[in-house]
Amino acid sequence: MKTQQQWNELKQRCAIESRAFINGEYASAATGQTIAVVNPASDETIAHIARCDQQDVNAAVQFAREAFQRGEWSQSAPSVRKAVLNKFADLIDANNDQLALLETLDTGKPIAHSASTDIPGAANALRWYAEAVDKVYGEVAPTEQDVHAFITHQPIGVVAAVVPWNFPLWIACWKLGPALAAGNSVILKPSEKSSLSAIFLGQLAIQAGLPNGVFQVITGYGHEAGDALARHMDVDCIAFTGSTRIAGQLMVSAGETNLKRVFAEAGGKNANIVFADCGDLDRAAAETAAGCFYNQGEVCVAATRLLVDNQIKDAFVEKVIAAAKRFTPKDPLDPSSAMGALIDQDHKAKVLNYVKQGVAEGARLRCGGDVGGQGAFVEPVILDNVDNRMTVAQEEIFGPVLCVIGFDSEQQAIEIANDSKYGLGAALWSDNINRVHRVAKQLQAGSVWVNNYNEGDMTVPFGGFKMSGNGRDKSLHALEKFTETKTTWIRLHR
Ligand code: NAD
Repeated sequence: MKTQQQWNELKQRCAIESRAFINGEYASAATGQTIAVVNPASDETIAHIARCDQQDVNAAVQFAREAFQRGEWSQSAPSVRKAVLNKFADLIDANNDQLALLETLDTGKPIAHSASTDIPGAANALRWYAEAVDKVYGEVAPTEQDVHAFITHQPIGVVAAVVPWNFPLWIACWKLGPALAAGNSVILKPSEKSSLSAIFLGQLAIQAGLPNGVFQVITGYGHEAGDALARHMDVDCIAFTGSTRIAGQLMVSAGETNLKRVFAEAGGKNANIVFADCGDLDRAAAETAAGCFYNQGEVCVAATRLLVDNQIKDAFVEKVIAAAKRFTPKDPLDPSSAMGALIDQDHKAKVLNYVKQGVAEGARLRCGGDVGGQGAFVEPVILDNVDNRMTVAQEEIFGPVLCVIGFDSEQQAIEIANDSKYGLGAALWSDNINRVHRVAKQLQAGSVWVNNYNEGDMTVPFGGFKMSGNGRDKSLHALEKFTETKTTWIRLHR
C-alpha cells in the first residue's frame, strides 16, 4: 500500500476524465452542461462531469439497441464474452491505484478500503460472471414422447444500470457482470455524486474489446438522465440500487411506459441481535462497531439497530464504544484511516439532524457527532436507550449512527427486529444452536448472519425482503434476471 504522501503525489498527477462514454467514445453532454464534483474530505471542486439529459440518453439507447441487433456481443459464444470480461476485470486490477484514488476523492471513503476492497471487488464481480457464463445450461422439459420442449435463456436487450454513490464501482460491477455476461447492451448511470470511476471504465472497455454501444456510461442527475432512462420505451430493464423512494418511482415510470423490468435493491434498517449466550462478546462488539461504522455507515446493510439482551446491555455497550474508537475519522488518503468523510455537506447535515431528533425523542447520546472544520466528517455516534418506534430506529439515516435497543426475551427481540418496513440484512449472536435456527428462520431479511456481521462473497445472493427491494445481486440468481426465459415447443410428427 502506498503512503499518504504517495497518494497525494498521485492525486496531483491524476488527469480526471469527466465526460460521458457513448458508443465507444468520450462525449460532453449535448447541451454542454456540467455538474461540479466536490471532494467531500477537502470541500475542493475536482472536476465537472457531463450533465446528460434526454438527448444523450436517446443517443445512447439507440447505439445500445443497434449493438444488440448487430449481435457481435449478444449472439457471441459465451466463451468469447468470458474472454473479454476476464480482460475487462484484469484491466480494472491493473488500474487499481487510479480507480481507488478516483473513488476516494469522489466519495471521501478511506483509500485503504477503495484499494483493497472496492476496486478488487469490482474486478472480481466481472470475473465471477465471466467464469460462470460458459457453464450454465438450458433445460429440457419432461413432456410426452412426441414433443421436444426446451427452455433457454436469451439476453433481454438494453439494460440500464442505475447505481448509488456508496460503493460506486463495486455495485456497478454487480450489475455489469451478469448483464454483460448474459449478452445485453448495458448503459451505466452512476450517481451524480460519484461518477468518476464509472467514467474511467469506458477506456478499459475499449481496451478489453467490448464492441461499441455494448457498454456506455451516461452521467447526470437522477431526475434528468436517470428518469429519461426509466421512461425510455426502448430500455428493457432497469437494474437499480439506491433508495426505496426512487425504487418506487422507477416502478411507476416502468408502469407508465413499456413495463420494463425493474430490479431494485433499496434501503435497510438492519437489526443486529446480541443474546446473553453469545460466547465471544468482544468479537461481537468489534463486529457491531465495524458493521455500523464501516464506509462511514453509508452502507445499505449497516448494522444500525443493535438489539441487545438487557442482562448484558450496559457492559456490551461499553465494549462497542471502545471498539468504535477505531473509526475516528481521518484524512481518507491516509492509509491508516478506517473512516473518511461522508459523501457531502448536505448529507452530513441530514445525519446530524437525525442525531438531534433522536435525543429530542429520548435517546441518550453516548459518543460521537460533528467533527467541525473542513470536510464532511462525523465521529461515530452511539445512541442508547432507543425505542424501536423512534424516528432514528425506523428511518434509514445512511450515516455512522448506531441505535441501541434493549430486549428481555427472544420473542421480543424477533418482534423488534421485524418491526421495520425494510428487510435487507439481520444478524444474531448466540452459541445456542437451537436458538440460532429458531431465530434465523423468523427474521424477515434477505441475508441473515450468525456470529458474524455482513460476511459473504460472489457465490451468495444479496438483496432484500419488504421495502428493501425485489431483486438479487450476486450469484447465479442475478444472472438469470438479466435474461428472458424462452420455451420452444416442437411437435414431432410421424
Ligand atoms: P438514490 O436513490 O438517491 O440514487 C440512486 C441512483 O438513482 C443515482 O444514480 C441517482 O442519480 C438515480 N436517481 C435518482 N432519482 C432518479 C429518478 N427519478 N429516476 C431515475 N434515477 C434516479 O440513492 P443514493 O442516495 O445514491 O444511495 C443511497 C441509497 O442506496 C440508500 O437508501 C441505500 O440503502 C441504498 N443502497 C442499497 C443497496 C442494496 O444493495 N440494497 C446497496 C447500496 C445502497
